[in-house]
Order: sequence, then structure tokens, then C-alpha cells
Amino acid sequence: MDIRFEKASTLKEKPDWKGALGFGKYMTDYMFTCDWDEGQGWHDARIEPIKPIELQPQSVVLHYAQETFEGLKAYRTAEGKIQLFRPEMNAKRMIKSNERLCMPAFPEEDFVQAVTEIVKVEKDWVPDEPDTSLYIRPFMFATEASLGVHMATSYKFIIICSPVGAYYPTGLDPVKILVEDELVRAVKGGTGFTKCGGNYAGSILGQVKAEEQGYTQVLWLDGEEKKYVEEVGTMNIMFKIAGEIYTAPIEGTVLPGVTRDSMLTILRDWGYKVHEEKTAIDTIMKAGHDGTLEEVFGTGTAAVISPVGELKYKDDVVVINDAKTGELTQKLYDTLTGIQWGKIEDKYNWTIEV
Ligand SMILES: *Cc1c(COP(=O)(O)O)cnc(C)c1O
Repeated sequence: MDIRFEKASTLKEKPDWKGALGFGKYMTDYMFTCDWDEGQGWHDARIEPIKPIELQPQSVVLHYAQETFEGLKAYRTAEGKIQLFRPEMNAKRMIKSNERLCMPAFPEEDFVQAVTEIVKVEKDWVPDEPDTSLYIRPFMFATEASLGVHMATSYKFIIICSPVGAYYPTGLDPVKILVEDELVRAVKGGTGFTKCGGNYAGSILGQVKAEEQGYTQVLWLDGEEKKYVEEVGTMNIMFKIAGEIYTAPIEGTVLPGVTRDSMLTILRDWGYKVHEEKTAIDTIMKAGHDGTLEEVFGTGTAAVISPVGELKYKDDVVVINDAKTGELTQKLYDTLTGIQWGKIEDKYNWTIEV
């Protein structure tokens, strides 16, 4: 793919990497854009100064939410090198999301090239403070101006980047999670396995309900029986019960997380028995009460791993590991972040130098 480059006349002042970068608060100077038109395919790949997007008010995405996205990070190593973590997994997942949403595939090698090129252009935006990174947000949406519900005839694929701060400035911090027993996130045959914007619009009410009760995240159950644990907001979830690991299977309703896959690989490598199978919330709560629920943690690109200190389901509450970060949770965090920031050997060949 040929990528045209348009230089910005001025560059923004960068924030203090030591300050509160937050998540998605600062955008870098450039964006990658590529257009798709029926009969023509992908064309006009370019990296240009970041700017607002012009859309007709009748554009398909604004009415029918034909939109998908991805999320990955670029990490600066102690030697000053920049590396990506398994970007081909994001490329493949986006193709699967797009198939479900009737959107064109952006080819895997072009995706990795586009991510690599924008990160090269924005290399000075990859922060070098401990645990900071450059968050990369590829996304695609239907631009065709027409109100009919149909597969649109034009799309834009864009990548923007944002420097993000340490997720845990003071160390891993366990979260309290509310198990949602009324609303559902995904059903078999739906879009649960895709990163499409609509999934998240539908999940905000659950998040609001949880926050009203003093919980920070929602644990979603399966959409049919509301019986089996699936995942959390933007994280997959794992349970350590009597020394073995349980997590929901990837069968269409759960997002196939890159972090999930990486953690399971490491866990199997360490000799843990891993069950990718349906597990009832009743089983989890029971294990919480009889003392066999040893650790619970969410996994995702943003936080890497998020220890869970408390679970509430209906009127039942269990506190996990005295609401402290478990030993395995900490070890997984140290190992995966060690690979991502180049502090420990990457024996899985997951990182790619930019
Ligand atoms: C993005 C996301 C995840 C985590 O995926 P990673 O590839 O590990 O970042 C899990 N669940 C949902 C619903 C997500 O949107």
C-alpha cells in the first residue's frame, strides 16, 4: 500500500508525560485515513494532520451505527525502541467484526503497515515514563449519504493515536464488580464477538446502574439464560478456583481479547489447567463463599489486568482475596507488561519493533 504524507505546518505541544495523561484525552498531530468506494475498493491511503471529519447528516453511520473499531498500544522500551504487541491479531479481529457488520475488510498486512507508519510518524508521542504508552485507535464507518438501511457503498478507515498514562500509578488496584441480572450485552447470533460501536452504546445503562450502587464495572451474563458469566465492560474475565483457571469460551457472544489469548498462553505455559467453558454465576458465588475462589481478574489492552476485589450478584456479595491483588494476578501483570515494555524476553515473538 502506498501511503501519501502531508506534513503539518505546526506541531502541538506535548503534555508532560509525568502528568495525568488520562485515557484518550490528548490526540497526536496526525491521522491515517483510507477511503473505500463500491467498484473501486480501498484508495487514497494518507497520513495527514488530524482534523474534523465532514459527514452529510444522512450518513449511514449516524443512523444505523455501521461502525467498528480496534484498540492496541505502542510501547517504548528502556533502550528507547518502540514496539507493538501482536498487531496482526487486531487486524484479523477487525476483519471478523467487519464481516458481521457487512463492511469491507481492510487487509491484514495493510492494517499492520498503516499502524506501523503512523507510529513512526508519531514516534515522539510515544511516552517514556514508566507504564505509559501510545494508544492506537483504528476505526471504520459507513459514510454513504442515504437513509435506507443497507450495506453502504462508501466507508472510511481511520487511525488516531493518544498518549496514555500509567493505568495503575500506585500499583494494581482491585475493582468492585456488579453482576448484571437484568440487561444483557450479547446473544448468540448477535454482534457480541465484534468491536462495533453499537455494543457499547447498549452497555452504558448497565455501567450507570453499577456506578449508582458504588461498583465500577459490570459483569455480563449470557443473554439467553442469564446464568453463565461472560465478560466485563471492555475486558474478558478469568476466575481462579481451587488452583484452576476458568473463563468464558469464544463462541460468538464474547469478545476474543488479545490480552485474554496472551494470558491463557502464559497460564498454560506455567502448567495451569485452563477451562474455556461456560461457568454459572452460582458456581462462582458458591466458590466465593466456600473459600475456593482464590482470584478474579479482568484482561484487556487498556488495563492489561484488573484484579477484582468484590462481586455482587442480586443480594449476595463475595469479597475475593481480602480485596487485595492476588499473587497470580500480579505475576501475570508483571510478565505481560514485562514483554510489552521489553523488560523481559519475548519468547512468544509477540512484539514487533517499529
Ligand atoms: C476490547 C475488549 C476486550 C479486550 O480485548 P483486548 O484485545 O484484550 O484489548 C474484551 N471485551 C470487550 C467487550 C472489549 O471491547
